[in-house]
Amino acid sequence: MIFTVAIDGPAAAGKGTIAKAVAAHFGFELLDTGLLYRAVAKKTLDGMDAVAAAKALSSHDLQRDGLRTAKVGQLASKVAAMPKVRAELIAFQKRFARMEGGAVLDGRDIGTVICPEAEVKFYVTASDTVRAHRRWLELVQKNPDILEEEVLAQLTERDKRDSERKVAPLKPADDALLLDTTELTIEAAVNKAIEAIKTRQAQGRE
Ligand code: C5P
Repeated sequence: MIFTVAIDGPAAAGKGTIAKAVAAHFGFELLDTGLLYRAVAKKTLDGMDAVAAAKALSSHDLQRDGLRTAKVGQLASKVAAMPKVRAELIAFQKRFARMEGGAVLDGRDIGTVICPEAEVKFYVTASDTVRAHRRWLELVQKNPDILEEEVLAQLTERDKRDSERKVAPLKPADDALLLDTTELTIEAAVNKAIEAIKTRQAQGRE
């Protein structure tokens, strides 16, 4: 059985949590594609060229400490705007998306570029302030001095870069279902996603 769930949207909208819950519910494999760009960014901090880092990326690189910091996130969005970096990472993601048994991928271009044929696509979003607050709650645990307005500024800068880049910009696929988590709890959003996937699976069996 091949079944792909594509989850896109801006930073800290709840994509990761929804992707994890959906993958666990249906027993699908999960790929956080943002981690690929974060791992490339981290390697550039070690002094490596971004394209060479993307070419040489290994599963070990995805398990390194410090990939989730705001600094690495910013740098990730810079390397992600480089067409040659994206080109190095595309084949792996495409293969992952169509693996036997079902796959959930979250990122920015899954429904538009990596897997336009995905059986279900979601575009998860929330207001800037709600997203900044959520991200601040995560980051403040490791960095007690971080300010919420600083997180908001970084987040909007990153979204702008991700939306305005020439290659694979952040945007909803035409056939994506919109999940706005500004007012919706993440649990409610997860339930909506699960229901939409079940409906699609039932259509597939008809
Ligand atoms: O999702 P996350 O915040 O970890 O992503 C880090 C950065 O990686 C994003 O800001 C974006 O620039 C890039 N990215 C991307 N395409 C994806 C996933 C992430 O360009 N599919």
